[in-house]
Amino acid sequence: MNDVKLAVLGGEGTGKSALTVRFLTKRFIGEYASNFESIYNKHLYLEGKQLNLEIYDPCSQKAKCSLASELHWADGFVIVYDISDRSSFASAKALIYRIREPPTSHCKRAVESAVLLVGNKQDLCHVREVGWEEGQKLALDNRCQFCELSAAEQSLEVEMMFIRIIKDILTNFKLKEKRRSSGSKSMAKLINNVFGKRRKSV
Ligand code: GDP
Ligand code: MG
Repeated sequence: MNDVKLAVLGGEGTGKSALTVRFLTKRFIGEYASNFESIYNKHLYLEGKQLNLEIYDPCSQKAKCSLASELHWADGFVIVYDISDRSSFASAKALIYRIREPPTSHCKRAVESAVLLVGNKQDLCHVREVGWEEGQKLALDNRCQFCELSAAEQSLEVEMMFIRIIKDILTNFKLKEKRRSSGSKSMAKLINNVFGKRRKSV
């Protein structure tokens, strides 16, 4: 069983809990507890694999914290902003920059984390403050996926969005595995070169 750890981050009231609950239950309930953080579990079957998905949905206050442990914990991120709230777009941008910050040497990641930027509350496009192109550009510039949707009105789109990021995470797992095995192959070659040659010369 593969463990997949996904963190849903973004400003307060952008719909992180609404998106998570929509994905897990296909329902939109309108009001969500915001004073505690949750890790939800879901078993999935995707690309021929059994997955144990963990979704981290932070409490509201968390947005202001350092997020260092979340950044380390997660295999991938859904970064949410509200298309009718410009300040939430600024928070999303700050989070993306934080995730894409060059790693310090002692905690280098072999492969860049999968990130999907989500412009939520598309049903409020009559009071839109952030253009689709702006979201798309921020995502492209930072090697993220992008979509706009509505947790309130769209069930299938929300499901597809989560599947998309999970597939990206699985692709990264494969890449890491490949690098690791080619790394150990080249180490084996090196050992063979050193000791193999020495043995010959005796
Ligand atoms: P969180 O703080 O990011 O977890 O945000 P919540 O999931 O608690 O949502 C904050 C508020 O936005 C709630 O009142 C939700 O009902 C509302 N909300 C969430 N998603 C949508 C959406 O797609 N459209 C609209 N109109 N409201 C939404
Ligand atoms: Mg919440």
